[in-house]
Amino acid sequence: MSNKEIVTRKSLIYKTAVEYGDYTLNHVVGCSHGCKYPCYAYMMAKRFKKIDSYEDWTTPHLVDNTFELLSKELPKYKEKIHTLHLCFSTDPYMYGYNEICKCSTRIIEKANVFGIKCSVLTKGILPVELAKMPKQNEYGITVITLDENFRKEMEPGAAPINERIEALRALSELGCYTWVSIEPYPTPNIHEQDLQQILNRISFVNKIIFGRLHYNKLVSQYRNHQEFFNRCAKQVIAFCENNHIDYHIKTGTLIEAEK
Ligand code: SF4
Repeated sequence: MSNKEIVTRKSLIYKTAVEYGDYTLNHVVGCSHGCKYPCYAYMMAKRFKKIDSYEDWTTPHLVDNTFELLSKELPKYKEKIHTLHLCFSTDPYMYGYNEICKCSTRIIEKANVFGIKCSVLTKGILPVELAKMPKQNEYGITVITLDENFRKEMEPGAAPINERIEALRALSELGCYTWVSIEPYPTPNIHEQDLQQILNRISFVNKIIFGRLHYNKLVSQYRNHQEFFNRCAKQVIAFCENNHIDYHIKTGTLIEAEK
């Protein structure tokens, strides 16, 4: 991690507009995973001139006053927060960045002290120590493919898929609530794959979130892409219902059901 810049914030915890989110925080600026779907957080950071380039984005900086802010904000928000999500605009368990991973675990510990449940989403490796924390927390990973070549193309700095899934499985076997975000799911002209294989591989989880790929012109070039996403969403719903798994289909993915 680069030391060239000290990053501080005036506040950390905020209410998110993300549809399955409640309160959230981003204690890191940038993300070494450098996803190419493209990454919405990267596009926004670039648009609002918070970063200059992709290289800038993939050089993460911890927010230096994270714990100072948390000691003020956790007592203030503890009655309002149902779930504190880490993170929507960076990754809390950035692959190969131990300092960031340790900091994220400390944040969860501190939130739990105030009785605040945390939800975590990563494309890194969830540490097994999380199983020692209160079982109210929810641990998730993103899985949009089982193909490691496609993973490297789309999520170049993130953890290999198998490692990611096995770390999640370990937490599940230790009694933690686990979930998978299959988002942003690609159309076959971007990558041809069998969704059923992905579902079978993650059948041990408690919840699946499924969402289509946005902001990529190749999707609209795929004829009948909405029908494709409708079919996929229905496949996810059927799988979850048959296997007693909670699910959430992101808005705009299953259009038929919204009419
Ligand atoms: S892991 Fe998330 S925040 Fe990081 S680059 Fe990928 S999509 Fe963006």
